[in-house]
Amino acid sequence: MTRRLMVAGNWKMNNTIEQSIKLAEAVKKETRDIHKVDIVVAPVFTAIKPVFDIVGDSSIQVAGQDVFWEESGAFTGEVSAQMLKDAGCKLVIIGHSERRQFFGETGATVNKKIIASLKAGLRPIVCVGETLAQREAGEAFSVLDRQIEEAFAGIALHDFEKVIIAYEPVWAIGTGKTASPSQADEAHAQIRGKIETLYGANAAQTARILYGGSVKASNAEELFGMANIDGGLIGGASLKTSEFTPIIKAAVNASA
Ligand code: PEP
Repeated sequence: MTRRLMVAGNWKMNNTIEQSIKLAEAVKKETRDIHKVDIVVAPVFTAIKPVFDIVGDSSIQVAGQDVFWEESGAFTGEVSAQMLKDAGCKLVIIGHSERRQFFGETGATVNKKIIASLKAGLRPIVCVGETLAQREAGEAFSVLDRQIEEAFAGIALHDFEKVIIAYEPVWAIGTGKTASPSQADEAHAQIRGKIETLYGANAAQTARILYGGSVKASNAEELFGMANIDGGLIGGASLKTSEFTPIIKAAVNASA
């Protein structure tokens, strides 16, 4: 089974519009000959449209970093899936651990956001991952199982097939600590096993599962070469093309 690799840059709450445009221009220039892997950038909401205007004619796709589940109305501060689509997004990150940790995101809200995004024609990148305390307590796999069950409750197979999952152990995000390739692969295999129980063996084999957590140029190729890892969701290292481009190239090499 060959799954197409994806490298997605989560710019988090960084960069003005001007800085985002410059970064998008640089990523576009440096990756113009790369067609073997999917490249995604997720700017802050204010920079989505300006970034789309730069990369819209290339193969780089734009993602939102979050979304609200209602279409419109009295929800001050929120942005709907239709609005993200209108601004140029093809994908949206949902359930990032920073949203779970700081903004009260739960399995139930993740589920509503996935449903709303699919309805609007956006492809969700759904983040799951255990904390250090949960890993140390031997609960990593049960946490992943639960997060997958909650995220995809009531979602039919034909919709699930549009989803991308990102395994992001919370203890590895922005900490410089990366899961070892075998630790990450084991977690991805667990996620695939859970998908198999929910959606069957074919869905488990075709699902794309990205790894996220302190991915760098120096560890990307080994991670992406693991059997169950289909690319990466990249935070800090996506903010500099000198770091992001080699990670994309590592994905190209891993898919060779
Ligand atoms: C992330 O925020 O999704 C992430 C993986 O961050 P970092 O690469 O900085 O650990």
